[in-house]
Amino acid sequence: MEPILNADLHCHSVVSDGTLTPEVLAARAKANGVQLWALTDHDEIGGQARAMAAAKALELPYLTGTEISITFAGHTVHIVGLGFDHTHPELLQGLRSTRGGRQERAQEMSAGLAQVGIHGAYEGALQYVGNPELISRTHFARHLVETGVCKDTSEVFRKYLTENKPGFVPHRWASLQNAVQWITQAGGVAVIAHPARYGLSANEEYALFSEFKAHGGQAVEVVTGSHSSADAVQYAGTALEFGLAASRGSDFHSPDESHTDLGSLPFLPGQLTPVWELLTDRIQ
Ligand code: AMP
Ligand code: MN
Ligand code: MN
Ligand code: MN
Repeated sequence: MEPILNADLHCHSVVSDGTLTPEVLAARAKANGVQLWALTDHDEIGGQARAMAAAKALELPYLTGTEISITFAGHTVHIVGLGFDHTHPELLQGLRSTRGGRQERAQEMSAGLAQVGIHGAYEGALQYVGNPELISRTHFARHLVETGVCKDTSEVFRKYLTENKPGFVPHRWASLQNAVQWITQAGGVAVIAHPARYGLSANEEYALFSEFKAHGGQAVEVVTGSHSSADAVQYAGTALEFGLAASRGSDFHSPDESHTDLGSLPFLPGQLTPVWELLTDRIQ
């Protein structure tokens, strides 16, 4: 694999909170010129066999993927895993355990929304859910847009689903150490997803990167649909500072909601080690 590659190593299907099937995503990636693809559903690898088969039929090189939610210093942070064995029992069990709290949390979110006059949000969100174990804030957001409470999903997040808002329920996800270990024990590479999104202080961010490295994490997303070009420059520097490889991914969820389509990002800055150089023997 070349260092300059239209790799897209971050997106979501109906198996988590995307709106397209793994097969439709594979076709879209191929049509958009993606040269190496990974489907990274939240806390779930149930779509991997389908994504892999669809990519193979299209002769699109593929890496297995997932995006694990963790709690770090009181913040929710996402760790992407790439190139693991998607049948590895400890990875499967770890992901199952971290999905476990979502239904209860969703009921609490619904109760919070009911207190501000929005009733039946749990049942409404469920209508958008492809995988009942993976009910997420995104499904609530789609329901509140569809019922006219807000004009788009970002307004829902801003008014209802983020910290100190009525539908927000703090949740205890997996630990950083667990997530990195599940991925690496299954033969994959752990990647800090979209670091600019977390609002961490400089000290918290230093702790995140240092502890991630100490647990065996090897890469960071530099070019992503969630980063500005200034963020990409900043985290290219962080990758070099911490000796991490760099990843690239759109974080595409839906043609109606996502600003960045599959395969449409700028290339990685040249001086970085692309994460796929660590994974050449894992590409299918
Ligand atoms: P959850 O895992 O249930 O906490 O939901 C998190 C998901 O919500 C993320 O993966 C994004 O897809 C989506 N999300 C988070 N923040 C926003 C936002 N400000 N606007 C739109 N979608 C968001
Ligand atoms: Mn999502
Ligand atoms: Mn994420
Ligand atoms: Mn994502």
